[in-house]
Amino acid sequence: MSELPRGIQALNQGASALRRSVSGEARSALCGMGSCHECRDRQGVRTCLPMQPAANSQARRTETAIAVFGAGPAGIASARAALASHQRVLLIDDNLQAGGQIWRGEGRAIPAGVEWLGGASVLDAPSPHHVRLVSDNEHIDVHFERAVLCTGATERFLPFPGWTLPGVFGAGGLQALVKSGLAVAGKRVVLAGSGPLLLAVAALLQRRRARVLCLLEQAPRSRVRSLIGAVWNRPGKLLQAGQLFATLRGIPRHHEAWVLRAEGRERLESITVRLSTGSGTRETRIECDALAIGYGLVPRVRVAQALGCELADDRVRVDERQTTSIGHIFAAGECTGIGGLGKALAEGELAGRAAAGLAIEARHLRHVRQEQVFADALARVYALDPRLRELADPDTIVCRCEDVRLRDLDGLVDWREARLQARVGMGPCQGTVCAPALEFLRGYAARDPRAPLSPVPLERLSHPPQ
Ligand SMILES: Cc1cc2nc3c(=O)[nH]c(=O)nc-3n(C[C@H](O)[C@H](O)[C@H](O)COP(=O)(O)OP(=O)(O)OC[C@H]3O[C@@H](n4cnc5c(N)ncnc54)[C@H](O)[C@@H]3O)c2cc1C
Repeated sequence: MSELPRGIQALNQGASALRRSVSGEARSALCGMGSCHECRDRQGVRTCLPMQPAANSQARRTETAIAVFGAGPAGIASARAALASHQRVLLIDDNLQAGGQIWRGEGRAIPAGVEWLGGASVLDAPSPHHVRLVSDNEHIDVHFERAVLCTGATERFLPFPGWTLPGVFGAGGLQALVKSGLAVAGKRVVLAGSGPLLLAVAALLQRRRARVLCLLEQAPRSRVRSLIGAVWNRPGKLLQAGQLFATLRGIPRHHEAWVLRAEGRERLESITVRLSTGSGTRETRIECDALAIGYGLVPRVRVAQALGCELADDRVRVDERQTTSIGHIFAAGECTGIGGLGKALAEGELAGRAAAGLAIEARHLRHVRQEQVFADALARVYALDPRLRELADPDTIVCRCEDVRLRDLDGLVDWREARLQARVGMGPCQGTVCAPALEFLRGYAARDPRAPLSPVPLERLSHPPQ
């Protein structure tokens, strides 16, 4: 128990709130991966994570031929592929353990020969060959000849009345917390939102002996079924889907269904959901201890933007060799578009080879193209229903860091105005949670990441560049 992060220990001991918001609301963990900052204590330390900042930090400089940012499946595949060129490869991640989202908790071995820099977040990119990192006790300037960006994705949360109550988690967020030690045995959980991640989370919760009451998917059943066409010739994916559905047998799954509101005093007690019936819709109330809800994933592109790489829609733009708009920087995995494990591994290998100047064979390109076809199918099938824009009412909080309500944005035409006049996206998460939501709700394009990319004590910023 003592090795668990403080916030998770507190939740396991029955606490519901981990902090009070600026307007005094009870708040608890949402994202489970360090980006929402809802679990932070008075010193700003994120209590869901194992890291604890030291009072003082040392500054150092390191140089490498190839820097890989992100140690999920894409980053590990990339580092392994690049290593074949016998150049120095540095693999960097803000988690202490490699593995990214899918292998969180169990971890993954660093390929032998790759240098590992764990627990270090990118703060800033002073030039296209130089990034500044901060860890618990170090300030590190990394200079590189070439880089591969494998920074993954975050969940998309859509605001609805009551979504800030403790007990409402991200779907991947609850999964990450459970993998980090949150106990859910016997808890009544509802899963809602969109995408295949809901199924993976439901299966994990079942294995950890939670009582999964039902699963609500916003996409129509017919569209989800059409995915079979995209995987019929992919035995691995078919097998994975079959195993998931077998684990979830008996759990009611509703389509074109979503959560209208969450209710409770200081913590979640029940939700009201909208279900489609053969002839129309009906509302029903479900008592539950936890709601795990996420409307798909959003590419994590801040490091790419800080380095000056161009985006295409919301993802890092790459060519067929995974090269970004900056010739010595490559990108792979979810940050170039949501496509899951197979895409991350295929693109990671290709990007690592390209960054290292190794030969690219036709099979590498074919493999990536095949995975991108699947990614396109996922995007079509799980496209968000426009009616989800109506979930938030004028009183619903849209920016959880600053407690900005939807009505506070009336008359504000874009992200910049909303930031300046309503303080949207100005808190510790710097828009990670609210920007994708407001892009969907209001069409605001939040494309202005500023250094530091994550909050950092002032004294850490005082180190001169190394
Ligand atoms: C919360 C969550 C849970 C998921 N669970 C599953 C699952 O159970 N099954 C499944 O098939 N797919 C899951 N996915 C989808 C998952 O993204 C892909 O399947 C796969 O892990 C993508 O690999 P990747 O290498 O592109 O990204 P990731 O695995 O996300 O790895 C990216 C890594 O980059 C690091 N990083 C990002 N920004 C920085 C920075 N500024 N500084 C330092 N490090 C940084 C991240 O911490 C992370 O470790 C999940 C996604 C999310 C967001």
